[in-house]
Amino acid sequence: MGDETHHHVIVGGSAAGISAALALRRHGFAGRVTVVEAGDELPYERPPLSKALAGGEHAFLHAILPRQAYSEHRITLLTATRVLALDPDRRAVELDDGQTLYADRVLLATGMLARTLPVPGADLRGVLTLRDVRDARELAARLRAGGPVVVVGGGFIGLEVAAVAREAGLDVTVVEIGARPLEGPLGPVLAARMTGLHERAGVRLRTGESVTALIGDTDVTGVRLGNGQVLPAATVLVGVGVRPDTALAEAAGVLCDEGIVVDRHCRTNVPWILAAGDATNQAHPHLPTRGRIEHWDNAMQQGAVAGAVLAGVPESHTALPYFYSEQYGRTLQMYGRPAPGDEFVLRAEAADAVDPVDPAEAGEPADGRFLGFWTRGGVPVAAAGLDRPRELHAARVLIERRVPVHAAALASPTTDLRALAKPSAAPGPLAARLRSRPEARSPHAGDPGIAIGTEAP
Ligand SMILES: Cc1cc2nc3c(=O)[nH]c(=O)nc-3n(C[C@H](O)[C@H](O)[C@H](O)COP(=O)(O)OP(=O)(O)OC[C@H]3O[C@@H](n4cnc5c(N)ncnc54)[C@H](O)[C@@H]3O)c2cc1C
Repeated sequence: MGDETHHHVIVGGSAAGISAALALRRHGFAGRVTVVEAGDELPYERPPLSKALAGGEHAFLHAILPRQAYSEHRITLLTATRVLALDPDRRAVELDDGQTLYADRVLLATGMLARTLPVPGADLRGVLTLRDVRDARELAARLRAGGPVVVVGGGFIGLEVAAVAREAGLDVTVVEIGARPLEGPLGPVLAARMTGLHERAGVRLRTGESVTALIGDTDVTGVRLGNGQVLPAATVLVGVGVRPDTALAEAAGVLCDEGIVVDRHCRTNVPWILAAGDATNQAHPHLPTRGRIEHWDNAMQQGAVAGAVLAGVPESHTALPYFYSEQYGRTLQMYGRPAPGDEFVLRAEAADAVDPVDPAEAGEPADGRFLGFWTRGGVPVAAAGLDRPRELHAARVLIERRVPVHAAALASPTTDLRALAKPSAAPGPLAARLRSRPEARSPHAGDPGIAIGTEAP
């Protein structure tokens, strides 16, 4: 699998890049492997940056691999080094320290860049985005100094930071331009459940509002909304999305369209260059159309496929998309990717789990847990749940095996998902029975807590 004179260069030392380097060795590649990373830290995990901010650096900075693993696997890691250009004709990789590396193949794992707010005051001190460990250090220091905190954009990173800040006792407002935070990825029913956690924790939600300016002299002191109101702020976290870092790829003649366009083998239109991770626009069997999957697990899995392909093993990236988020000590997990028009099914709660007292929580379990599915043509294609890891594990198998299950069965708390997910049940007697009896509805099917309908994700 490549003699010792071969050399592969990986641009970007994060989930996708490091996973690819390890896979090259796992598949027996004997040549040189170099990872070039612009950041100056040993490659680290990004998810803890928004979840463990209150615990200090030892809590949020976790190396992906210990330093000695790079020498053990004969991976040359160049940190604090940026790739400036790629020249496919000369197979040259130009570095910002003046060196040129020559490579048989290059893997681009350049990830994403945080979007900023295009409004006056966006460069004031205390207006932060959160993408890397330097951002996390600055944000953690500002949170330690106190609030109020305004989070602009109710996506996962913004809400995770809102939860950390609120748990630290700070005054927190989330400004969201849409009808409700997280409606895009989770749909209205589950987004309402997630935002309920924040409201109960005392976070103020300002939905349907845009930000027109950030106020202050040197440090930010306020956030002006479209209606003219100014929210006081000592720190503003801008979580308004990301864009793929495609500059190198584009300059090297690689086709990009909202991401680096790759096939299932991580190949681009330039034979010398592959790509993996957040920055890619991929054709994936579990995506309704080509697109990006911006999750840690995807980057690790797709990176591993890229490493295999670089080593000469023709693997394909087909792993079911998966992500998780942690807020207030609760864990949200999601498998698959819903599409507009999918049928949404909320799994009902067993009667003894439902809050009997609080009418506002009617149909919701007292502990706030939930589990929902999206089905397409009677087949589950996605599932998301809060603190439901065992059932989600079963849901994952149903989705991966494309086992048809009637919506009423998914909705019923008495349906044993793990039994349905057993190999013999796909498409064995129980699944077949549920398929053939669309009228088989749970006794809870008419309860207010059960929503079966069509929902745009
Ligand atoms: C705060 C935060 C929290 C997150 N939480 C979760 C979560 O809970 N669950 C989840 O599934 N996902 C989460 N994610 C997303 C997850 O971290 C990403 O999906 C994952 O990091 C993508 O890995 P990647 O290797 O594709 O790219 P990235 O992690 O973005 O890394 C790309 C690397 O390339 C380097 N680079 C770029 N250009 C160059 C160049 N020219 N030369 C050298 N180096 C270069 C960059 O410095 C960077 O280190 C989170 C992300 C962030 C920022």
